[in-house]
Amino acid sequence: MKIALIAHDKKKNDLVQFVMAYQPIFSEHQLFATGTTGFRINEATDLPVHRFQSGPLGGDQEIGALIAKNEMDMVIFFRDPLTAQPHEPDITALIRLCDVYSIPLATNMGTAEILVRGLDRGDFQWRNVIHEKKEK
Ligand code: PGA
Repeated sequence: MKIALIAHDKKKNDLVQFVMAYQPIFSEHQLFATGTTGFRINEATDLPVHRFQSGPLGGDQEIGALIAKNEMDMVIFFRDPLTAQPHEPDITALIRLCDVYSIPLATNMGTAEILVRGLDRGDFQWRNVIHEKKEK
């Protein structure tokens, strides 16, 4: 599965720790991230992470483009709800696209735990059906 990881600045430590805690599960999947988030995950783990632009420079939109092609399978996005972001429209657009394509999206650690445990249990195999359909 292709998983996008994004964290706003005040949430980056939380996301790095989260990825470290679930490293054995994440290691079985393809990881993508916005620039600085990906850098921080790379620093802290051995996991390969494809890095897009930083969020404010278009990274959210790059991830959105993959969602629009129905290629991203899950988004874990630790948002900071207490700080205004210069790229708020991009954030809204990304979340909207997750809803358009029914992409599992967690915007906080509580939900992310459930998604990652579900991922490990095979709850998201339906995404493979979508990929197979697209190939036909
Ligand atoms: P960053 O982008 O990982 O490059 O910091 C995330 C964001 O702040 O939107």
